[in-house]
Formats: sequence, structure tokens, C-alpha cells
Amino acid sequence: MNPAAPSPTLSVLVPAFNEADNIGPFLARLIPVMEGLGRSFEIVLIDDGSSDATWSCWTDHSRRDPRLRGIRFSRNFGKEIAIAAALDHAQGEAAILIDADLQHPPEVIADFVREWEAGYDVVYGVRQDRETDSALRRKLTQTFYRLFRSFGEIPLPEGAGDFRLMDRKVVHALRQLGERARFSKGLYAWVGFQAKGVPFVVAERAAGESKFSFGKLFRFAFDGITSFSTLPLQLWTHAGVLISVPALLTAIYFLIRTIFYGTDVPGYASLIVSVMFFSGVQLISLGVIGGYIGRIFAEVKRRPLYIVAEESGPDAKPHRREQR
Ligand code: UDP
Ligand code: MG
Repeated sequence: MNPAAPSPTLSVLVPAFNEADNIGPFLARLIPVMEGLGRSFEIVLIDDGSSDATWSCWTDHSRRDPRLRGIRFSRNFGKEIAIAAALDHAQGEAAILIDADLQHPPEVIADFVREWEAGYDVVYGVRQDRETDSALRRKLTQTFYRLFRSFGEIPLPEGAGDFRLMDRKVVHALRQLGERARFSKGLYAWVGFQAKGVPFVVAERAAGESKFSFGKLFRFAFDGITSFSTLPLQLWTHAGVLISVPALLTAIYFLIRTIFYGTDVPGYASLIVSVMFFSGVQLISLGVIGGYIGRIFAEVKRRPLYIVAEESGPDAKPHRREQR
């Protein structure tokens, strides 16, 4: 940080992946809102390994405006990691996370700041509707929240996403959470603090399309649940007991029956079905355990969370992130 320049009050953090067409309109709407707040601010873009002109577009703007800074990843690390990097680089008294595609209306930031001034450490946007998502995605999201509620060890506020303001102390707390498989919504809830929801209506994406395929969302959902619950692991113990106790009783029954009445040949179908069913159950449980072991493997490698290729802004410097 440049010692001559005082830190700004508000840091607006923008993860962006192939958003070149959105940068111009986004800044055109965001900057007047920020100026209207009458507080100093910085806008930090995290270019998550875009393959389009996002970075050059941003540096064009940041050359003209010293309030803009940018960090470019060496490749696409995913939005969750981009958020972690953004929080690492935020210098303000409060950090505001916002998407680059104008789905999060910048005007709502004024409400966030008002609640922050009123004493809340976290102010999060609550989606009023999910009209912009497909029906299937809405249904799956709902199912995920239900699963998380029954599996997870912490409650997630419904409709709360990444569009939020966080006080500096919350940002500091989040920086200490160094896990690789990141599920930000869970991490926000985990650190706690006084939080307040502010309703907002999600807009249509300004340009381009969502970067989240269903495959990506599924992986994300699995990460979410396995990061915050070990119930999927314990479940198999219960399933094992539930299956083996009746199996034992059946075995005793057949033993006694065979002793008194001899054997009979039929039973081939039930044998095949039960063998197949229980091998399936075992494979599923192995898969779940494998998922957790994979998670442990990723953690013990202790690789840095992300690699910065380039920085832009008034005090851009070659970057090295300390190991965590
Ligand atoms: N994003 C990112 N890295 C990714 C995917 C997305 O930084 O790998 C950014 C994206 O540029 C946008 C925000 O995260 O600013 C939300 O992404 P998107 O609009 O694709 O998701 P959705 O709104 O459909 O949840
Ligand atoms: Mg979007």
C-alpha cells in the first residue's frame, strides 16, 4: 500500500471472468453511486483468468482513474477463490462484494452503507426472486438449501449471496480461513457478526451468459455440504447398522430353518438383487469417503490459493502471497 495515500473508506470488490462487455456499463453505473455516498472508495477488479479483453478494458479505465485497482490471476481459479483474493487485497474500512454483470444493482450499495453506519458489521443483499434463473436451477438451489439445513452445522440465511458489505473486522476474520475448497456463503455464516439483510431484485445479466454450468454448480454444492458437515460420513455407520442387524437376524433364521427343514434351491433372484444393492451402497459410501479424502489431500498440499499474474493501479507491485 502506498504510504502517502490514506486508505479509502469503502472497497468495492468485483470478481470478473470474461466480462469485457460489462466493464464499461458497470463502471458507468457504479461510479456515480459511489461518488454520491460522499466517502472515499476504491474499486478492485479480480480478473479470474479471463480469455477476452476484460483485463485490457479494466487497465484502460484504471489508467484514467486512480481509484481503480486490478489483480489478474494467472488462470481461472473460480469465483470463490476470486472472492478470497479480493478480500486479501481490500484496503477499506468496509468491503463490498458485487458481480460485474450488473445483476447486483449498484444503487443498493447506498442501503448497505446506511446499515453499516447504523452499526451492522455485515449487510447482505437478499434476492427477492430468482426469475432470472431457469426453473430447474431454482428447484436444485432449493433442494440444496434444504439439504444444507439438515446436514450443515450452521444455518444459512435464505436468498443471501455474495452481494454484501462487510466491515473490516469481518474481512480480517475471513482472511484467516485458508481452506482451499471454499464455500463463501458458509464461511460468511461461520464467522458470525451482527448481520442485516437488505432486499434487492436481481436484474438480468447485462451481457454474456452465466459462467456457472450445472456441473460446476453440483461440484459447488458438494463442496458446500462437505465443507460444513461430516454427517455424510457418519450416515454410513447408521446405514451399516440398519442393514447388518436385519441381515444377521435373517442369517440366524435361515440357519435354524436349514437345520430343521434342510435347504431349498430357490432364492437366486433375491440373492443377486441383494448382492447388487449392497455393492452399490458400499460404492456410494466409498465415494463419499473418497470425496473427503480428496479434500484432505488438497488441504495438506498447502498450495497457495491463487497465483497473481499482474496488478494494475496507482501502487501496483509484483505480488507474493504468504503461505497459509
Ligand atoms: N466469475 C468469476 N469466476 C468464475 C465464474 C464467475 O470471477 O469462474 C464472476 C463473474 O464474472 C461474475 C460473478 O462471478 O462477475 C458471477 O458469475 P455469473 O454471473 O456467471 O454467475 P450467476 O450470476 O449466474 O450466479
Ligand atoms: Mg450473474
